[in-house]
Amino acid sequence: MKKISSKKNLILSDSTNNYRLLKKYMHHKDKYHLIVETQDEDVNNCIKAINIDNLTERNKFIYETICDVLDKKWNHNLPCEFCHNRCIASRNKYMDKEFDGCCYSFKRKRFGKVKKQKCIHLKDDKTCDTKNISCKLFTCNYLKKNHLFSTSYDNYLLLKLFFNKKEKLILKYNFFKTEEEVLAKLNKKSIKPYVLYLLCFDFLIEK
Ligand code: SF4
Ligand code: SF4
Repeated sequence: MKKISSKKNLILSDSTNNYRLLKKYMHHKDKYHLIVETQDEDVNNCIKAINIDNLTERNKFIYETICDVLDKKWNHNLPCEFCHNRCIASRNKYMDKEFDGCCYSFKRKRFGKVKKQKCIHLKDDKTCDTKNISCKLFTCNYLKKNHLFSTSYDNYLLLKLFFNKKEKLILKYNFFKTEEEVLAKLNKKSIKPYVLYLLCFDFLIEK
């Protein structure tokens, strides 16, 4: 006799609240059967991630997938309009550094002074030698103010579904660090309450 599945169907489509449905599926995989009726890349990446049981591997998959998605978005739009190594914000006198866009890190000097220096990951050919998700999620005020481009953490189901508030801070604010450094930070759990974690800047790789 044919065995009847006791699992309920969960249908993901372009008109359903896929965040809510995926959350349900993620926590009770044994109770639901997933039917995917959407081509949405974000939804499909979430399903791939749900099927990776090892947390370290899953974090790496999500990190690299989002970096690729963001690279495609930046490269497709090219909002910075570099010309002779000066970006649109620099050409409109919106920033103090003339060249190399916003690839400058901050070095804290004595008496609390902060010095800007070229990011160590910026190569001579003006590409980056690592994948830094915070840099890719960042849009400067010039682009935002002029409605030229924007990237937002909350636009990605893959990030919203898997990471909590502390992890969101890690992913958003660790500029100038390598992929390995950010992932190592992400994989290390903190038991500190969120407010303390935030106030102590514990989400930063180096204080
Ligand atoms: S994000 Fe803004 S500041 Fe950075 S390179 Fe682009 S236009 Fe320049
Ligand atoms: S890590 Fe960020 S700031 Fe540094 S070169 Fe890469 S994109 Fe630019």
